[in-house]
Amino acid sequence: MDETYEDRSLHEECGVFGIYGSPEAAEMTYYGLHSMQHRGQEGCGIVTADENGELFCQKGEGLVHEVFDEARIARLRGDMAIGHVRYATTGADVLENVQPFLFRHGTGDFALAHNGNLVNYVELRAMLESTGSLFQTSSDSEILAHLIKKTPAGNSRPRIYNLIDALKQIEGAFAFLVMTANRIYACRDSNGLRPLSIGRLDNGGYVVASETCAFDVIGATFVRDVAPGEIVTIDRHGLRSSFFATECRHAMCAMEYVYFSRPDSDLEGCNVHSYRKESGRILFSEAPADADIVVGVPDSSLSAAMGYAEAGGLPYEMGLIKSKYVGRTFIEPSQALRDKGVRMKLSAVKSVVSGRRVVLIDDSIVRGTTSMRIVRMLREAGASEVHVRIASAPLRNPCFYGVDIKSKDELISARKSVEEVRTMIEADSLAFLSEEGMMAAGRCSDLCLACFDGKYPTALHGQDTR
Ligand code: SF4
Repeated sequence: MDETYEDRSLHEECGVFGIYGSPEAAEMTYYGLHSMQHRGQEGCGIVTADENGELFCQKGEGLVHEVFDEARIARLRGDMAIGHVRYATTGADVLENVQPFLFRHGTGDFALAHNGNLVNYVELRAMLESTGSLFQTSSDSEILAHLIKKTPAGNSRPRIYNLIDALKQIEGAFAFLVMTANRIYACRDSNGLRPLSIGRLDNGGYVVASETCAFDVIGATFVRDVAPGEIVTIDRHGLRSSFFATECRHAMCAMEYVYFSRPDSDLEGCNVHSYRKESGRILFSEAPADADIVVGVPDSSLSAAMGYAEAGGLPYEMGLIKSKYVGRTFIEPSQALRDKGVRMKLSAVKSVVSGRRVVLIDDSIVRGTTSMRIVRMLREAGASEVHVRIASAPLRNPCFYGVDIKSKDELISARKSVEEVRTMIEADSLAFLSEEGMMAAGRCSDLCLACFDGKYPTALHGQDTR
């Protein structure tokens, strides 16, 4: 599919939210999921549990405000809940893959929600099917439920040991929320690839979410992040910590900082806006441009553009405007109309860019077609020069951890040099932030940079790296 302004091409796979000890658990989850809508727009769901241990589930395809109304929320009884927003590939039976998944079982019902991707999914599923498991979905997330119920010690011991045994068998990226009749378990993979944070409500209850922006909308206070390899149990005794992995490291997905997360979220103590702004400052020091104004591609590149402008003593200008009202179901212009100049989502501000030498800051280049169109748009609006600066390193490798970069084929920088990419996107100059610059921007001890440097933090279990 051709990349358009309407499709920035990279997608996060999901966001998770959980709440314990709130009389408005379902409503709070609705608001929490809404604040993380950017992490997935194709489906969402909420499962609640009431004081009798009964679990209630509502989910559907679409945005949070499309799936839920007051009547559906009212059917979700209880003071604890988990919820999920999903980005998924389209196709038949999408609804069956919408989470949370609710499992009915003789030893107690439970639900789970997952952000991330399991790299050993295929072999685990084959193993489980060969021993009688019947899968209800084609999602890798369902694996955990089967593993929890397959542990050799059966179901007579405390449930957390089954969960620990199950988590030891899966590899890849995950932030899992598992909810039983009386507690929520929040689990994070041993590399901390996907974010997961804990917050506190005024009434003493707890929340857990992929991003801290979800805490702000419901008035919760940040407590701490779930550590890599940790299971945090939330129940009437408060918080308890256990670990399923002994060898853990912090290798948060760099693209969470660069592109996916909301600027008002803090990931492992680093604010996303601040990271992006610093990356822009470093980008200027690495690749200054002789220009009149700095323009960022809205929305995710604006912070980096501010940093670049500040560092270079250049005016930061609103040279590109993004329409807020182009929704998921908007009828996109045909190629013929686009060729005639119909642009629905992004347009250049002529009076700002006309006659100016523009530094265009973007967060990443995937196929290159979006960058080329934006460069052309700025030139058509009268920019005399367009110097493109990218606030991340060249994307050269697929991701197996929950971001839909499926092969090198879709990455222009995997096949072309920087100069060849510059020619293709028709820029006067082009430079990328270095991998060192990406690390330095967050003062991070470690980040996953695998789609940039090809150094994957887990075994790949036969995944195709071409
Ligand atoms: S490979 Fe790239 S997109 Fe995937 S987790 Fe690592 S940094 Fe993130």
